[in-house]
Amino acid sequence: LYVDQPLGPGQPVRLTQDQAHYLFGVMRLARGAAVLLFNGRDGEWRAEVTEAGKRGGTLTCAAQTAPLRRPPDLWLMFAPIKKARTDFIVEKAAEMGAARILPVQTRFTNSERIRQDRLQAHAVEAAEQCGGTYVPEVAELAALDRLLSDWPADRRIMWCDENLLGARAGLLEGAGAIEARGFEEAPSQPSPGPWAILIGPEGGFSEDEQARLRRMPQVVPVSLGPRILRADTAAVAALTLWQSVLGD
Ligand code: SAM
Repeated sequence: LYVDQPLGPGQPVRLTQDQAHYLFGVMRLARGAAVLLFNGRDGEWRAEVTEAGKRGGTLTCAAQTAPLRRPPDLWLMFAPIKKARTDFIVEKAAEMGAARILPVQTRFTNSERIRQDRLQAHAVEAAEQCGGTYVPEVAELAALDRLLSDWPADRRIMWCDENLLGARAGLLEGAGAIEARGFEEAPSQPSPGPWAILIGPEGGFSEDEQARLRRMPQVVPVSLGPRILRADTAAVAALTLWQSVLGD
C-alpha cells in the first residue's frame, strides 16, 4: 500500500478514509494484521494494524522488508494524446522503470492541459501493482522548446524519429550508447548515465522542432522499426529498447 508519510522503525502511519475502507472494509483486515507499505523514498516496510476504524486507522511500522530500489536515470518525455492513451503511457512508463515522466507540449500536441494529479495517481498505482518501491514523478505539462533550452549537457536524448523508418536498425549503438555502457571497454563499467526518451504527438514533430533536435549534441535519433507506431505503442517500444540496451 502506498502512503505519503515517512516510514521507519516504530513509525505510526495514519490512514485516510479511503485507505481504511480498502483495508478494513474490502480486505477485511483486523487489528494485528500485517500490511506492506511504501512511500517511494524509504523502501518497503511491514506494518501492523494498531487501530482499525470505519473512517481511519493507524498502522505501526515493524521492519523494513526491502530497500528503496532506484530505477535507472531515465526520463520519458512525451506529447500527451487522448486521455486514456496518456494514462496508458504513464502507467507503462512507471511499470518499466522510468525515473521521471515529463508530458511536453510540442507544435502539434493535441492536448493543451493535463491532470497532473491524476497522472501521478496512475504512476503510484502502477508502482504498487509491480511491487516497486519507487514512484516516478510526473511533471506538469511543459513546452518542449523551454525544456530543450535548459537541457543538461550530460543527459542524452533518445529521440524516436519516425522519419528514419527503420533506417537505423542498429538502434543506439551508432551514437555511442553501447560504448557508453562499457561493452567496448571493461565489462565492469555498466553506467548508462542520464538519458531521456522523446516521443512525439500523433502529428509528429514540426520541421523547426526536428531541426532543433538535430542540432543538439545530446540527441540520438532512433528508429523503432519500419512502421509508424501510435504514440502510446512507440512509448512502450522505446522503453523496452532502452531497457534492453542500457537498462539495469
Ligand atoms: N508524423 C506522423 C504522421 O503523422 O505520420 C506520426 C507520428 S507517430 C503516430 C507518434 C510518435 O511516435 C512519433 O513522433 C515518434 O516519436 C514515435 N514513432 C512512431 N513510430 C516510430 C518509428 N517507427 N520510429 C521511431 N519513432 C516512432
